[in-house]
Amino acid sequence: MIAGHFAIADITKLTCFQSENLWYLNLAAIGPDIFDKIVSALFGAPSRGVFHSLPVFVSIIALALLLRPWVGLEASTISAGLFLWGSHLFSDFLEPRVLFWPFLGPLGTSPKFNIMDKLRSFYIVRVFPGQFWLDVFFVVSMWVIVISKFVISRSSNY
Ligand SMILES: [Zn+2]
Repeated sequence: MIAGHFAIADITKLTCFQSENLWYLNLAAIGPDIFDKIVSALFGAPSRGVFHSLPVFVSIIALALLLRPWVGLEASTISAGLFLWGSHLFSDFLEPRVLFWPFLGPLGTSPKFNIMDKLRSFYIVRVFPGQFWLDVFFVVSMWVIVISKFVISRSSNY
């Protein structure tokens, strides 16, 4: 999923975490990709790597809870970030080997991350049809919510 991660962040902003910063929500929604795609582009590591792993996510949750008193973030901000990071792992349809890394062996190899190849294989060739349609579902859902809120706000002005 590509645009769908951003759509989930926008849906979250429009519904349950309205007071959180939209940039923060979008960054959290693509958090695993930010780390893994950069490492993949630079060093040829798998593009769905260590930061797409559930044990690493649990470590991030523990770290967030540990550092929260020192960093001074609201519990809702931490919850929003963790929710979106978790939604990323769920919506990526990860292989068990990636999701449970390092418990099921090494990640394996994959070609270096290239954004144009990724966009082409995802939206034109549709190598991952399930993910493509999940992407479409979240983007359409986001627009339905945006348009609904717009219509409701206009009708309440009369
Ligand atoms: Zn990802």
